[in-house]
Amino acid sequence: MSLPASVSRRISQLKADHNAPLCAYVYDLPALEKHVKALRQILPSNCELFYAAKANPEAPVLKTLAHWVDGFEAASGGELSWLHEQCPGQPLIFGGPGKLDHELEIAMEYRISAFHVESVTELRSLARIARQRSVRAPVMLRLNLKLAQAPQSRLVMGGIPTPFGLDDEGLAAALQLVREEPSLELKGLHFHLLSHQLDVDAHLELIRSYFLTFRQLCADHDLQLPVLNVGGGMGINYQNAAQSFDWPRFCQGLKVLIDEHEMGATCVRFEIGRFISAACGYYVMQVLDIKSSHGQFFAIGRGGTHHFRTPAAQGHDHPFSVIRGNQPAQLNDQPVTLVGQLCTPKDVLAKQQPVAELAIGDLLVFTLAGAYAWNISHQNFLMHEPPLKVFIED
Ligand SMILES: *Cc1c(COP(=O)(O)O)cnc(C)c1O
Repeated sequence: MSLPASVSRRISQLKADHNAPLCAYVYDLPALEKHVKALRQILPSNCELFYAAKANPEAPVLKTLAHWVDGFEAASGGELSWLHEQCPGQPLIFGGPGKLDHELEIAMEYRISAFHVESVTELRSLARIARQRSVRAPVMLRLNLKLAQAPQSRLVMGGIPTPFGLDDEGLAAALQLVREEPSLELKGLHFHLLSHQLDVDAHLELIRSYFLTFRQLCADHDLQLPVLNVGGGMGINYQNAAQSFDWPRFCQGLKVLIDEHEMGATCVRFEIGRFISAACGYYVMQVLDIKSSHGQFFAIGRGGTHHFRTPAAQGHDHPFSVIRGNQPAQLNDQPVTLVGQLCTPKDVLAKQQPVAELAIGDLLVFTLAGAYAWNISHQNFLMHEPPLKVFIED
């Protein structure tokens, strides 16, 4: 895969500026901005785009996105405070299981746009805290239901046991509580039932079943709800990035669905992580050693899965490019396994990948490293130094 010129230039410059073997994250902020702007621009007019910060909460990433998204989703009290600090004034929504009372209180102080309620216990705590403060808490109920006309897909997690959201029984209890509690203001319903979705048609069918379920519940319970949150989960094809989730085609189909199901007066909110930030990040490791072991080649790079856990977490061979140094090639059109510096056989970033040329001192540049990468990694394991972090600006 070829690298954008501005990225290769920056990486070469970094290498020139550092004597020690290079290990760095590089984030292409202009590319991120262009991408999110394009995503936002073709969404139908009644839709909103929130960024799920857990995918990558680096401050420059959030600040770049802040101009183009409608707000941010926090999955913990820590993220909520960080977002409040980094992007003051931006609408925030707060999800995730096991929220502390203290976090609910902070969220009320921040006047967040919505609490994504994951359980009846949480809804009770929210009601109690809002009552004590004489405020009304805006509530979205996260649902885990068997959906109306749900598509058959192994990816859909609706209607099976999970710690997330409310099942039918939970929903009945929650609606009862909302009716009795003036401190709770029910704003809408929330679904986030899958991730790694690559199939646009399957996703449109899922959205259709969200729409049907939403309308059915509103009719059955005599509710007028302004918001339907349809989650995130649009996938990146790590083996062939060009075959990632086809957003333009999805937006066309979405517009048709909105019209067909008369959802135009409802705010349809997306909260997307991976699909927004994955492509802007690069993880760079300089090759420290190349060796052969029982007939297979290994290249050992500076860094590893303690910085970049994505390949281990996904169980895949992560895509990469090579920036050659000035040493003659030690490998020519040969398969090589790319590993890091950890004393565990699990520290593998890509297995038996063919490389045209490779030598000690070359740079391995892993692409699609901007989501669920640095921040999901076991950074303190073995006490290696952290990577450099570089943000390319205009
Ligand atoms: C993680 C998460 C998201 C974002 O998922 P992506 O696959 O990164 O788009 C959205 N909503 C909820 C509730 C989540 O937990």
